[in-house]
Amino acid sequence: MRIAFIGLGNMGRHMAANLQKAGHELVVHDVRPEAAAGHLANGASWANSAAEAAQGAELILTSLPGPKQVEEVALGEGGILQGAAKGVVYADLSTSSPTLIRRIYEVFREQGIHVLDAPVSGGTLGAERATLQVMVGGDEAIYERVRPVLLAIGDKVSYIGEIGSGEIAKLCHNTMTYCANLALAEVFTLGVKAGVKPERLLEAIQGGAYGQGNMLKHRIPERIFKGGFDQAGFYLALARKDVGLATELAREFNVPMNVASLAEQALIEGLARGWDARDASAIWILQEERAGVKVRTE
Ligand code: NAD
Repeated sequence: MRIAFIGLGNMGRHMAANLQKAGHELVVHDVRPEAAAGHLANGASWANSAAEAAQGAELILTSLPGPKQVEEVALGEGGILQGAAKGVVYADLSTSSPTLIRRIYEVFREQGIHVLDAPVSGGTLGAERATLQVMVGGDEAIYERVRPVLLAIGDKVSYIGEIGSGEIAKLCHNTMTYCANLALAEVFTLGVKAGVKPERLLEAIQGGAYGQGNMLKHRIPERIFKGGFDQAGFYLALARKDVGLATELAREFNVPMNVASLAEQALIEGLARGWDARDASAIWILQEERAGVKVRTE
């Protein structure tokens, strides 16, 4: 397939190279022409603008820093809209704004151009090894059309939902990563200051329920999605005891525990509501009430 690839940075250069390896014909563009040297040496052609790259391409891909550049490259002067033909597909691989891609989808639709959001996760190593998770939003039939191409950049390509859904999933994923990172920093500083070697603590946590991935693999799909808070696997009262002992230890060793304090307050609120014998995951209900939504599958 003839593919236009715009944005050959840390992620884009690997994804473009993998598309070439898969046998696609590439036209590349970047504001830094030197970024294309390797691709050109492997047979890609150069375009002086996004519009020029889009001309004659069946699929147009962008991997840009963020919303500002995506808007400029998609809708701006010399942008994709000025070069793309009717019936082609534009998919944005950047981590960007769901609201922006929904606007681009509408504008492009008036010109007969299909739009998908397809942000990726897996880092530069994943980009290089083509092991990315690609999270796609847009019309499902269009997704099916480009899925075989996306499999050249990631071995996990998922249809998430209507336009913007891929970006929403990606933003949720990354925010979770940084929140979890803060919690991990907290417990590792507590553990080490209280006398445990970092590598031993890591071994214990990796082998434990959290490290085994039980939350994502079992508790969310099997309990929270089903609203099964009353069939306790682990009593909320026991979770409150554990976090309480940890914050007590943190006070003894003067370790600030911001995230743990939030978790402890949520567990205390659960107890105050009489949820002692409910599953510890019932603290999700508190957030669901605040957010005005329930996280359940049908
Ligand atoms: P990067 O800054 O290395 O790459 C962006 C590229 O876009 C650069 O080569 C830059 O020259 C080019 N560019 C900028 N403005 C342009 C324009 N107007 N026209 C043409 N080219 C332009 O960033 P990256 O790390 O490759 O990330 C790209 C996207 O992927 C971002 O949205 C990022 O959040 C996301 N992402 C990054 C990683 C990662 O580990 N680096 C992982 C997953 C997702």
